[in-house]
Amino acid sequence: MRIWLSRPHMSGGEEAAVAAAFASGFVAPAGPQLDAFEGAVAAHLGGGVHCVALSSGTAALHLALRLAGVGPGDEVWISSMTFAGGVFPVRYLGASPRFFDLDPARWTLSLPLLEEEMDRAARRGRLPKAVVPTDLYGASVDLPPLEALCARHGVALVVDSAEALGARCGDRAAGTGGDAAVLSFNGNKIVTTSGGGMLVTRHAEWAARARFLATQAREAAPHYEHETIGYNYRLSNVCAAIGLAQMGVLGARVARRRAIFARYRDALSPAGIAFMPEAPGHLSTRWLTACRIDPARTGTDREAVRLALLSEGIEARPLWKPMHLQPVFAGAPYHGAGFDAALFADGLCLPSGSDMTEAEQDEVIARVLAVMA
Ligand SMILES: *Cc1c(COP(=O)(O)O)cnc(C)c1O
Repeated sequence: MRIWLSRPHMSGGEEAAVAAAFASGFVAPAGPQLDAFEGAVAAHLGGGVHCVALSSGTAALHLALRLAGVGPGDEVWISSMTFAGGVFPVRYLGASPRFFDLDPARWTLSLPLLEEEMDRAARRGRLPKAVVPTDLYGASVDLPPLEALCARHGVALVVDSAEALGARCGDRAAGTGGDAAVLSFNGNKIVTTSGGGMLVTRHAEWAARARFLATQAREAAPHYEHETIGYNYRLSNVCAAIGLAQMGVLGARVARRRAIFARYRDALSPAGIAFMPEAPGHLSTRWLTACRIDPARTGTDREAVRLALLSEGIEARPLWKPMHLQPVFAGAPYHGAGFDAALFADGLCLPSGSDMTEAEQDEVIARVLAVMA
């Protein structure tokens, strides 16, 4: 590839931060950089939350669902349009996913649909153990009504904000929602630790328990004493140092991704390409520029555009394939009208890395327009 979908974008400060981690004597496991990284994320989120740095976003979701009490036989209600790492932990815990469609006006989990099914499930006494909406492509879900709905039914809410660090929902930062939120610092995300994640929660006791479970559930004793099953999920201090430097440029990265999105939209919407909406009062990070290539409006189709770009060494990808259409989740219950499947059919993520140059973006735009000419 010459132009990637979303590559790690270093600020220049990371190597010094890693050197500082070495100098501190704390290469692993914990150390001052880990504490500072958690503090930097908490400060960005606006306080009132506890942050636990972990080895991946998937690990953070696994812990959050376990803390929510999810276990064998339980249901977890979840956006179908998401990445597999945002669903697999449901199965790690022996629970079953029930998938929900998106709201076509927002491209995040449909609240009316969720509310209808929650009310129905409550009447039957069959509520889920947790609800997991996804902040898709950097757009926060509408937190207040979701939180109110889950609180009304006494159901845990875990928000998958893996793609949305830096986004806002009104006056709140994405990543502050629900009982817990999950962040990812994977290499393709808006900022990275090379690989990592974070559990964010307003419950101090959830944070303490997450730290305990993430470090092999070691009880307080001079020897190794274990009363429950734990995990080796803590982020290393060296990776946290990378994240610390990256947090310093988060605002700039969001601004750049938003500028890339706006430039694509200005250049390509006159040609009939439709772009992901941004809900009123929200600020999306536009982690990836997501658009739809409707054959009736553009005279071409998603695959023709994707393959034309690929032949020039430009990476573009279809939107997420909904989880209820994945072989691994065949037969799982699904509620919706298939808006997510329609997005998968004609949706494309354009190269959106914050290190992309304007000349590179101009080339992508020109090649997309050439397919439609
Ligand atoms: C990236 C991502 C994850 C998983 O994060 P990892 O750090 O890669 O484990 C989970 N959910 C969504 C929506 C993601 O985009």
